[in-house]
Amino acid sequence: MTTAEFPEALSKAILHGDLDPTCMHVENVRHTLDLTTPETRLLCQQAEADGLLRKTLQYLCPNEGCRRGIESSPTPLPPYQELTCEVCELDERPHTFKAGKLMVMPFYSLAEQTSPRA
Ligand SMILES: [Zn+2]
Repeated sequence: MTTAEFPEALSKAILHGDLDPTCMHVENVRHTLDLTTPETRLLCQQAEADGLLRKTLQYLCPNEGCRRGIESSPTPLPPYQELTCEVCELDERPHTFKAGKLMVMPFYSLAEQTSPRA
């Protein structure tokens, strides 16, 4: 697929309900459009540069069985910034983590969409 074909393929998939315009992981896009991972990364990067997609970095809670997104940011957070998982705090498990220690899951949204559903 070329960078020129990608926006149309993407909007078709969204129209069919195959992709969520507020939260598209590279893996979703790859699977839905039947692409390779490197190809999908490149197409998404290009679409981001073109202003079609917006990238968000989601920081995941490292606790076993949690792994929820506890913070999202369009740019990398300072590695020493402390993030709190409110769910794990209620469970009285370790709940404060340094951003640099967390797994980051990037996702894309259509640029004209509002922030992703919680
Ligand atoms: Zn947690």
